[in-house]
Amino acid sequence: METEKVKCLIIGSGPAGYTAAIYAARANLSPVLYEGLQPGGQLTTTTDIENFPGYPEGVSGTQMMEDLRKQAERFGTDLRFGIATAADLNQSPYKVTIDEEKVIEAQTIIIATGATAKYLGLEDEKKYAGMGVSACATCDGFFYRKKVVAVVGGGDTACEEAEYLAGLASKVYLIVRKPFLRASKIMQERVMKNEKIEALFEHNAVGLFGENGVEGVHLVKRMGEADEERYDVAIDGFFLAIGHKPNSDIFKPYLDTDKVGYIMTEPGTPRTKVPGVFAAGDVADPHYRQAITAAATGCMAAIEAERYLLN
Ligand code: NDP
Repeated sequence: METEKVKCLIIGSGPAGYTAAIYAARANLSPVLYEGLQPGGQLTTTTDIENFPGYPEGVSGTQMMEDLRKQAERFGTDLRFGIATAADLNQSPYKVTIDEEKVIEAQTIIIATGATAKYLGLEDEKKYAGMGVSACATCDGFFYRKKVVAVVGGGDTACEEAEYLAGLASKVYLIVRKPFLRASKIMQERVMKNEKIEALFEHNAVGLFGENGVEGVHLVKRMGEADEERYDVAIDGFFLAIGHKPNSDIFKPYLDTDKVGYIMTEPGTPRTKVPGVFAAGDVADPHYRQAITAAATGCMAAIEAERYLLN
């Protein structure tokens, strides 16, 4: 298999990967960045970004990622299409296989592979992507001021998103498949006390409808039971909060991950337990999951890579 030696390999092309590339390129690390399955990352699936400092009028996710990409390229980042399909972090230089056909031997690696929001798998989720379907209330909630929305899920994320949306929307349905919430007690209490939130227990969303965007959801109560009921509810926005999957699978044999798969780093740093290997952005962040925090940890990872190489 073809082999190439590099000083700094960056895997992933969201705000963490591109920011790491900007810093690494300016520090003469000649970074090579592989963009992965979804160039630009999760932000390319959101609508407008209005909470990233420096854009008073907001900016579309795709535009921001295009700008970050150009900025990384301007300083000499070698941007490539390709997916990391295997890794060997046993000893330096570390090896990462790209597309099962090429091995990169890297002195440092910045893992910025992100996380993928889980969807229910309905055709309508694709049909209405960016037209009423979202997996990020903090990103898109603002567009639903005084409107009616539904949140799917019964964990802490769903409860947090329902609470957040209740501060903007006129009504929030929380669609929970079980007869109870899985979220922490305190979150359950907050949700149940909030007059704007109506929890629909033992409900499954099975489809969406609407002319030019989401206008409602098809629901099934007690699906598969003798007393199953099917009905529709009018909504303007449909939010998924059924968990995220960090894209860390190929690194798991070498790095510590939590039970969900998030890469664990030394607190307050992007350092993993393997010297010279850093994790930035959502792949290592179960808490904040924001573009700005991902960019910040990308910057930190590049500075760490530079210092590691100096030593
Ligand atoms: P969880 O895995 O905790 O919860 C996922 C929820 O989505 C569950 O209610 C689950 O239902 C439901 N769900 C999953 N798949 C489907 C499906 N196909 N159809 C319908 N419902 C589905 O994920 P979270 O993202 O909520 O939380 C992940 C971790 O992060 C947890 O440990 C959580 O505590 C933590 N967290 C902590 C926060 C905080 O402390 N502030 C904030 C957010 C998250 P079921 O219960 O039936 O499996």
